[in-house]
Amino acid sequence: MVGDDNMEKVLIIRYGEISLKGLNRPYFENTLLKHIRKAVKEIGKIRVYKAHGRIYMDLEDYDEEEAIKAVTNVFGVVSVSVAYVFEANMDSIYEVALEHIQQCIEQDGIESFKVESKRADKKFPVKSPEISRLVGGYILKNVEELRVDVHNPDGIIHVEVRDKAYVYSRKIPGFGGMPYGTSGKAMLLLSGGIDSPVAGWLVAKRGVEIEAIHYHSYPFTSDRAKEKVIELARILSRYCGRIRLHCINLLNIQKAINENCPPEEMTILSRRFMMDIAERVANDRKCKALVTGESIGQVASQTLESINVTNSKVNMPIFRPLIAMDKMDIVTISNKIDTYETSILPFEDCCTVFLPDRPVTKPRLEKILESEKLLNVKELINQAIDDMEVIIVKADE
Ligand code: ATP
Ligand code: MG
Repeated sequence: MVGDDNMEKVLIIRYGEISLKGLNRPYFENTLLKHIRKAVKEIGKIRVYKAHGRIYMDLEDYDEEEAIKAVTNVFGVVSVSVAYVFEANMDSIYEVALEHIQQCIEQDGIESFKVESKRADKKFPVKSPEISRLVGGYILKNVEELRVDVHNPDGIIHVEVRDKAYVYSRKIPGFGGMPYGTSGKAMLLLSGGIDSPVAGWLVAKRGVEIEAIHYHSYPFTSDRAKEKVIELARILSRYCGRIRLHCINLLNIQKAINENCPPEEMTILSRRFMMDIAERVANDRKCKALVTGESIGQVASQTLESINVTNSKVNMPIFRPLIAMDKMDIVTISNKIDTYETSILPFEDCCTVFLPDRPVTKPRLEKILESEKLLNVKELINQAIDDMEVIIVKADE
């Protein structure tokens, strides 16, 4: 019966946190539903619908693996399971559960199992603990090599009796988080490195819509460096829909600093310009926060002193989701979200141009402010923003 063409197969899609949202709940659920529909649009005209506090998706005519991949990439999805759906009666439940566990033995080599049942339809004559006991007994009788382990089973057969019966085993985890776009909008400072894409992804996972700003020093930096950043934005847009990427040429600013200020202050001064410009563009775009990939102590500009000096340039909150993370953990996420291989391509972003031999690691704000007085900050910033290039980046184009 399993694999039978006549049997319905659905994807059960679970969302955790958003069901806590009280009055906002329908809004969050509907947004999640919209994002899931969009994510599977390419696969086919798949029916996706809400029922029993979850989302269901018809599967029988579609590539299961492709559908699972698309759905588990959607923020807000906690886990999914492929379930067989059929008329609820004990004989069918026995038969489907048995074939399902045989598949689990073949695929995952399980040796122990338990059955967990849920009877939502109280008219169904057999109660949940009894369903589990009967189905478990039936499986044991038919598969010799299996044993029951209620505490630490290799596999769990889930039986749910609702309008119909649902049988499934595996729960495939999603990323969790909140539906994208339900928590306002922020401006991500996106470099070509490992950290900032991860920072953007983590904030986006909390439902914050992301726009990005990138600084380059063209023609000192190459077109390929720019392509790399576009590619990183494209990978992020698999999770975020489309991303508006603002590209700013920092070269004139860096030249001005180079000509007028102490060389060891190059990094900290350019970072203050970056923050300032980012905040202005963010305000224009109605973003309520900035996001960076800073992590304490990683480089000279990420000492507490440096962070204070760059921070004091802006009024908007700056989100730094990586601030206390080790590089290894950042790399792990970077691999998981698929940005790592692109991030390690060896093209420089603007920061390597004019890089001082020995940057200040403990800048004093008064001294930095003195240096800034030697520059026409306002004009430099206005010029850079006037020359800004905007690129709309969409997934896989
Ligand atoms: P990343 O791996 O994200 O490049 P990093 O370890 O190289 O970070 P820094 O160069 O100090 O660290 O940059 C800290 C943060 O400042 C970055 O995570 C990013 O948010 C922002 N940033 C740095 N360079 C640029 C750039 N060229 N364009 C936009 N944002 C930048
Ligand atoms: Mg960098």
